[in-house]
Amino acid sequence: MTEAKSDAIRVITSAQTKEQLQSIVAYQDAGRLTQAESLSLLLLERARTQQNDIDVAAAFHEIGHISILQNKYELARNAFNNALEIFTREGLLKPIAVILADIGTSYRYQSEYNKALNFHYRALSLFQSEENRLGIAAQQLNIGIVLKELGQFEPALSYLKRALTELRQQNRLESVSQALSHIGGIYVDMGQYEAALMYAKDALAISEETQSRHRIAKNLSRLGDVYLRLNQYELAKTHLEKALVIFTELEAPRDHGSVLTVLGQVEIASGHSDVGLQYLNEALAIANTDHYPKLKTDAQLALARAFLSLQQNETALTHALRGVEQTSQRHELSLQAQFLQVIVDIYVAQQNYEKAFSTLIQKNQVVSKIMSENSAMTVAQMQSEIEVERQAQSIEMLRKNRAIELARAEQTNLRTTLALGGLTATLLFLFLLWGRYNTKRLNLNLQNEVRKRTQELVQKNNELEDAYTTLEQVSLRDRLTGLYNRHYLEAQLPGEIQRCQHTFATAKPGEDINDADLLCFLLDIDNFKKINDEHGHMAGDRFLVQFTEVIHEVFRQTDLLIRWGGEEFLVVCRQANRAEMCMLAERFRVAVSERVFEVNQGKTIRASCSIGFCTVPLFVHSPYRVNWKKTFLIMDYCLYAAKASGKNCWVGALSAKDEEVDEASLSHFAKKFEFNSVTLATSLNNLASINWPGEK
Ligand code: GH3
Ligand code: MG
Ligand code: MG
Repeated sequence: MTEAKSDAIRVITSAQTKEQLQSIVAYQDAGRLTQAESLSLLLLERARTQQNDIDVAAAFHEIGHISILQNKYELARNAFNNALEIFTREGLLKPIAVILADIGTSYRYQSEYNKALNFHYRALSLFQSEENRLGIAAQQLNIGIVLKELGQFEPALSYLKRALTELRQQNRLESVSQALSHIGGIYVDMGQYEAALMYAKDALAISEETQSRHRIAKNLSRLGDVYLRLNQYELAKTHLEKALVIFTELEAPRDHGSVLTVLGQVEIASGHSDVGLQYLNEALAIANTDHYPKLKTDAQLALARAFLSLQQNETALTHALRGVEQTSQRHELSLQAQFLQVIVDIYVAQQNYEKAFSTLIQKNQVVSKIMSENSAMTVAQMQSEIEVERQAQSIEMLRKNRAIELARAEQTNLRTTLALGGLTATLLFLFLLWGRYNTKRLNLNLQNEVRKRTQELVQKNNELEDAYTTLEQVSLRDRLTGLYNRHYLEAQLPGEIQRCQHTFATAKPGEDINDADLLCFLLDIDNFKKINDEHGHMAGDRFLVQFTEVIHEVFRQTDLLIRWGGEEFLVVCRQANRAEMCMLAERFRVAVSERVFEVNQGKTIRASCSIGFCTVPLFVHSPYRVNWKKTFLIMDYCLYAAKASGKNCWVGALSAKDEEVDEASLSHFAKKFEFNSVTLATSLNNLASINWPGEK
């Protein structure tokens, strides 16, 4: 909270003040807010007597921060506004941006998201005009967090990712950990708790490297929440209790209350419902006294669930209905859907199926709104990009299959909804039958109503089923060719590479390893643009489908067949032998050149393609030396060379060795990739016929 923001203001203050500010920040980090506050007030006094306006503003800025840490948001804004007035008068852009950002944050904590966004965007554009990268990153982080609260995961992840890259480069650990923690929060919202766990753990580990007690406590409480969802109650409890100690020390009621909310759920889940309810009610009381809307809804959701599990349905319902109202006012879609689900469960428990059903419809509407605002594909893509950032933080963790996880989580989600919908349909049907036998009791209106609802349900189910299939395909398969897409590759490949490298790394000296290579081919259609230009885009599409048929004919079912981009394909043959590499490449090249492609009715054309390839592992004796990124670069460069050498041919790398060789004998390729000795192959007459791009 302090690290990225205070610098811009500190630099313009007097030398004496600079020193004092440093102590104030240190006190804040250490959680000694009383000391921080007295020092700030002293500073304010002195600056006023010396009539040094800038120092006065700096003091107000710190007072604002301290108030935020104590969750006194109105007070914080008063202080910030005082500072803002001074900086505006002095025309100091950077400090103005810093204060605007802080005001935005104070609004976010009060769930006033539109106001928060407004201030963060204003700060962002000021930082942009100043070309202040750190300021820009800090705003991207803030905006990402607000969008996340609004359930807009896609843009949220995009902002968080950009922020993370910059913050990491500038080694702003506190902000990095904040970003990671909120990404973890997004995973929680999407029900992907294992992934959330990784982020929450990283966030905590990183914040422990900093001095900020506040940030550590925030991250402890996030991790506790994730453990609760993973049903690991003991772990949840230890983390939450640690967080509670710090927040008590900081005298931060809102943060304290939100830990209580989670802790209450942990207690209830582990059978201590009295203690649990007491915590939850305490949290609700804090929210009501100090007016913390988000805390209020969080507590209410927990209470609704708790009472439902204790079969106190009416009380549960009261809390849930209030929650729906509050969340819909604040456009917190994902929270709203959670409340609606609780209501559905309550009505089902009360055997009030009609109401359960209409609530379910309502929930589906909210869910489809979330889905339409977040394309599953882009979210998945963004998630994997972010993962690269997380790894760059050099924390040892297994790379997980995010794309598949996302699809699976969404699928289970939909399946549950479908199952519940199906159940409700059956019940309604029975209800209808029962109605037939009791015509006297049921008036015609009700029957019609039920019929109408049943039709609605059928339609809704169909829609969901469509969404389900679409989702499945959108996530992992390319729609045109039916081949897998990059997400699938990203999901499968790391495991394949690890397996393969492991086999080679653990082989005994002298042992022959057969059929453990990965053969990777990059296929690119020659002059495809011309096919589009001459026969139309639709014909181009038809061509691509037929090209895919050739891929299926030449490669095996078990190979990874990926549509990499427009007219580029990637094939990874598993458990193969590099001795077959050239033969396979040649077989594919010939198959394409011999194929007659039908582009328009009756109209056929011939075509060709170029191929670049590379083996994994390239170095048999040091299998980890070339990673996937480099493997891809090698293939891509070979493909490029094939194109430059006249197309309809292949160029690739078969293996490499570490041998002492003199500089002069190194090939252009070896130099480019910093290899000593590499075995290349081509379908051209000889290696000297390869036209390497960039070679003199
Ligand atoms: P080269 O031999 O050097 O590979 O030339 P090229 O024309 O094949 O390659 P280039 O990269 O210049 O053009 C690729 C074209 O593929 C451009 C793009 O419009 C087209 N394309 C990409 N995706 C699709 C698609 O899904 N359908 C159709 N019909 N065309 C596509
Ligand atoms: Mg091409
Ligand atoms: Mg291309």
